[in-house]
Amino acid sequence: MDSLLKHMVDMTGHRDHAMLDISVVAAVQELAAAAQTRVLSISTSGARPYLRVRASINAGDTPRVEDLHDGGSPGEPLDSYPELAACLARREASAEACGPGCNRTLWLPIWFGDKATTCIEIVRTAPFHAAIVHTISGVIGVYRNFQNLLDYSERDSLTGLLNRKTFEDQLARMLQAPAEPDAPLPGQPERRCSQGEKKGWLAVVDVDHFKMVNDTFGHLYGDEVLILIANQLQASFRAQDRVFRFGGEEFVVLLRSTTLEHARRIIDRFRTNVESYQFPQVGKVTVSVGFVSISPYDSPVVTLGHADQALYYAKTHGRNQVCHYNELVERGLLQTVTTNDTAEFF
Ligand code: GH3
Ligand code: MG
Ligand code: MG
Repeated sequence: MDSLLKHMVDMTGHRDHAMLDISVVAAVQELAAAAQTRVLSISTSGARPYLRVRASINAGDTPRVEDLHDGGSPGEPLDSYPELAACLARREASAEACGPGCNRTLWLPIWFGDKATTCIEIVRTAPFHAAIVHTISGVIGVYRNFQNLLDYSERDSLTGLLNRKTFEDQLARMLQAPAEPDAPLPGQPERRCSQGEKKGWLAVVDVDHFKMVNDTFGHLYGDEVLILIANQLQASFRAQDRVFRFGGEEFVVLLRSTTLEHARRIIDRFRTNVESYQFPQVGKVTVSVGFVSISPYDSPVVTLGHADQALYYAKTHGRNQVCHYNELVERGLLQTVTTNDTAEFF
């Protein structure tokens, strides 16, 4: 029981999804005396369900988190795990299978309503007795609730996008992650970047004349426009990119490793998607965007400041356009401003 309590304290002490995954695999591994425990993500790509390992531990080893950015591969098809696939299709609480030798595998999907995007997989040489399953289910229940709480604290309640609080953390992660090969855009079968250095990019998106939408149609229609724009943002960028609502009608996108030409193309495609969309009742809405490359040598404050300057240029030069900070500086259209690195931005 001491060990169970220790694991509970450890699990609930984290404010980070990866650390929470690490502590749940460590807890389940020890309590089940397992040979291996894994946290699996369940996602769909091209309408097919896939599994990806988020965290794992093998007997006698320390737990490890997997890099989810390895080239955009969707993972292993769920079809390779027929018992788990059947359990998910029937919305059941668990599935079990007997593998080669005496290995037994137990899968416990984490259900939120009728959706499960995470599953715990436990491999053990001995059978899973009811008492063990009962204890593990309790630990996983705490994990589920805590995961939900973390999600809630990281997201904006209107749009479901990541909130501003999580921005610096995500930016730091993006800067640490290794460069990756090209992954296809949603809805596009293939794309190759032309030559050019691959970098991370930060784009600030602001809805044009949004006050007029509120004033003309009311706040509720304004909210609806924000939700629809948030949906378009999520559909326009890759799964590895990150989209935030920074407040009001302003959004920030962090694009993972790609060329300038490609970053511009994706951002501009989003802008034209918004421009050509017929918003219910409201009609046409446009957005302006400023973007800049991100580098480990610039603080988040400086990078955001540069993207904001490019956005301001777009706003004061006709709106409904995408402006690149470095290009504006090179063309002498923007002055480089020395930003106070320690300025309070948040
Ligand atoms: P510009 O093209 O220069 O960006 O003009 P704008 O009207 O979009 O910019 P401004 O900053 O003057 O107005 C932003 C408006 O966004 C004012 C504010 O009432 C509204 N707003 C902020 N948050 C929300 C929200 O959550 N819901 C709704 N409906 N409106 C919001
Ligand atoms: Mg605006
Ligand atoms: Mg604004």
